[in-house]
Amino acid sequence: MNTNSIISFIRDVYKTDEFIPLHAPTFQGNEKKYVLDTLESTFVSSVGKYVDDFERKMEVYTGTARAVATVNGTAALSAALYLAGVKRGDLVVTQALTFVATCNALFHLGAEPVFIDVSRVSLGLCPVALDNWLEENAQLTEQECVHKKTRQVIRAAVPMHTFGHPVELDELIAVCNKWHIALVEDAAESLGSFYKGKHTGTLGDYGALSFNGNKIITTGGGGMVLCKTTKSGARAKHVTTTAKVPHPYEFYHDEPGFNYRMPNLNAALGCGQVERLESFLEQKRKIAQGYETFFAGSEYSFVREPDYAQSNYWLNAVICDGDEVRNDLLTHLNEAKVMARPIWKLMHRLPMFADAMRDDLAVSEFIEARLVNLPSSPTI
Ligand SMILES: *Cc1c(COP(=O)(O)O)cnc(C)c1O
Repeated sequence: MNTNSIISFIRDVYKTDEFIPLHAPTFQGNEKKYVLDTLESTFVSSVGKYVDDFERKMEVYTGTARAVATVNGTAALSAALYLAGVKRGDLVVTQALTFVATCNALFHLGAEPVFIDVSRVSLGLCPVALDNWLEENAQLTEQECVHKKTRQVIRAAVPMHTFGHPVELDELIAVCNKWHIALVEDAAESLGSFYKGKHTGTLGDYGALSFNGNKIITTGGGGMVLCKTTKSGARAKHVTTTAKVPHPYEFYHDEPGFNYRMPNLNAALGCGQVERLESFLEQKRKIAQGYETFFAGSEYSFVREPDYAQSNYWLNAVICDGDEVRNDLLTHLNEAKVMARPIWKLMHRLPMFADAMRDDLAVSEFIEARLVNLPSSPTI
């Protein structure tokens, strides 16, 4: 298959001769109306009805007990890890094949990442590799999981649902329970993705969503902590809003809090966008099916949702037959103003995480050398 036929296929899908981005937002519903309403009411900041509306809508959609809106996805993840008990000096197990935000969130709590390989099926944290690494390196004391050599507590595992494809959650939950480690799902890319009928981010102890401009719906910048119980949800709201004890005029804060709350202005945009979510999901599934059919039998293997899950197909991807094929595809598409992107550099290749503990990363390295993301915006 030559790259020109790929370019014309994508130009046909998007029906344009102009630049085609990887993922662009659209605002064709009530977004403008709701945002203008915040300006007219002057409630643009930390108080206002849209924050509550947006949180309630996401609780209904994801089926979680409590959703707490934050300034961005990184803040949501950081708050989730903090709530899961991650402290200075702890180890947090995650994948090297992820966007840097996953690691930044734990790093700023003073924790250190441990990189484990991904599953070839989900492109997310591999439960078998995780259990094997723990068998070799960890030991259970009273109620904690401790690294045999460094004696650091292994506090949490953070799988990431890569490009919207859900990880093997039942298996990961079993490993985390066995080792008494918390499970925090980085669901930043997987709003609208379901694992055996349950929304991603709601099966672990906590989940984090992102509403950055390139995600499936956007609030400009924004995120959300998904909490399993109303009790943990109340605590999430408390610590992300300066830990202020409610009072009409007194300032009393009962623990060191974060100022991670989402402004009402952004939540208004979110309320408009969430009304469009089902239609975005439908369009994205159609685009993904188009790619899958187009690439069938070629040297590009389309990344499809795992059999046990329903993906939002946030970013479409192909795995090329070798890195030369990959480099060719990247150069030709970008030259033709059809945006294509390699997957992120693995986290242990970045200077700040180069010395982090890591297991064998053969699958992550295989994917890193071959994967290309293709334009994935909803078409209308
Ligand atoms: C987008 C994203 C985040 C959060 O990003 P923000 O820009 O802070 O909203 C976290 N993890 C992953 C994997 C992401 O793709």
